[in-house]
Amino acid sequence: MMDKDMGARIAGLLHHRNAGLEKGDPVALPLTTATSYHLPSVQGARHIYGRNGTPTWDAVEAQLALLEEAEVVSFPTGMAAIAAGLFATLKAGDTVILPSDGYYVTRVLSDGFLAPLGVTVVQIPTLSFATADFTGAAVVYIETPSNPGLDVIDIADVVARAHAAGAKVIVDNTTMTPLLQRPLDLGADLVVAADTKAPGGHSDALFGHVAGRDTALMARVRDWRRLSGAVPGAMEAWLIHRGLETLEVRLERMCRSADLIAKRLADHPAVRSVRYPGLPDDPSHALAKRQMAGFGFLIGITLADATQAEAFLERCPYMVRSTSFGGTHTSGERRARWGDAVPEGFIRLSIGVEPTETLWAAMDAALR
Ligand SMILES: *Cc1c(COP(=O)(O)O)cnc(C)c1O
Repeated sequence: MMDKDMGARIAGLLHHRNAGLEKGDPVALPLTTATSYHLPSVQGARHIYGRNGTPTWDAVEAQLALLEEAEVVSFPTGMAAIAAGLFATLKAGDTVILPSDGYYVTRVLSDGFLAPLGVTVVQIPTLSFATADFTGAAVVYIETPSNPGLDVIDIADVVARAHAAGAKVIVDNTTMTPLLQRPLDLGADLVVAADTKAPGGHSDALFGHVAGRDTALMARVRDWRRLSGAVPGAMEAWLIHRGLETLEVRLERMCRSADLIAKRLADHPAVRSVRYPGLPDDPSHALAKRQMAGFGFLIGITLADATQAEAFLERCPYMVRSTSFGGTHTSGERRARWGDAVPEGFIRLSIGVEPTETLWAAMDAALR
C-alpha cells in the first residue's frame, strides 16, 4: 500500500523535530498553552499572540505538511476547516456545487449561511460529478468515497473539467487521509479534512486542517482563521500530533482487517449487500484501485431491517455503537437514524485495530 515517497514522508513525520533539538531538550513535543509571547519588539518574533499561531500548532502543521506536501493551516474541527475553505473561495453571486450525499453538516452550513449571503448552493449526487456541467461554478466541492454510500468519483477528471470552467476544486479527504488518497497531486486546489477521525484516532480530540499549494489562497485561509477566531486548542493540537505518529500503523491494521471482513461479509447469509471499494465487484473498485493507495476502513452493510441491524450492533461485544469513525475501536451505526438516504437496515462500520480474527469471530457470531 505504501510507495517509497510515502515511506519517506512518514519517517520524516516521526523525526520532524530532530533538527531543532538542542542537547537536553524533551524528545516528545511540549504542550504550550501560552496565549502571549515575549515581545520586546515585534519584528522577527516567531510567535506574537495565541490566535495568530503557537508552537504546538506549528508542530502538528509541520507533520501534516509533510504528509500533504503542501502548506497546512490547522483548525479546531473538520467543520471549521471546511468553513474556512468555503469562505476563502466564495463571494456573493458565486455558485458552489456540493455532493448531496456528502457530509451533511457541510450542506446545512452552505444552505444556512452561504445562501443568505448570495451564494447559489447546488447539490448533486457524488456519481453525477462525472457528467455534470460546471459552467458558471466558482467552487466544485467533492468528497470521495462518499459517506456513507462509498461511491467513488474520479478526482483528476473533476479537476480538469472544473478548471476548464474556471472553478476551484475543494476535496473533503477525511475518509482516506493523505496516506490513502492525495487530491492535491491530482490537481485539487484545496484539501479539507477532519483529523478528528483516523489522524487523531483515539476518539478524544476534535481537529481539522486545510492543505493547499497556492500561496495566495492559503494566505486567505490563514487570515480566515485569525480573523474568525476558529483556532485549535493547545491540548487538541498536542493530541493530534501524538495521534499522527501512529496513523500509518493503525491504518495498516484497519485497512487489512476491513478488506478481509468485507469479503467475508459479502459471503455471509445474514448480509443482504456490502459496499467496500476493495471488493472486486464493487461499483467503486476499478476507480478506487487507480485513485487510492488503499481501500480504507469503512464498510457499508445492509441487513434485513432496522431490528436486525440494531440487534447485530448490540450483540457484537467488540462494537462501539456511536456516530463518527476512524477510532481504535470498531464502531457501527445505523445511518437511517440520522435520515441518510439509505435502507433502514444499512450500517456504516468503521473497522478498528482489534486483532482481525477475534473481531471477525465476534461479528460472525453476532450476525448468526
Ligand atoms: C466528521 C467529518 C467532518 C467534520 O469533522 P468535525 O471534526 O466533526 O467537525 C467533515 N467531513 C467528513 C467527511 C467527516 O466525516
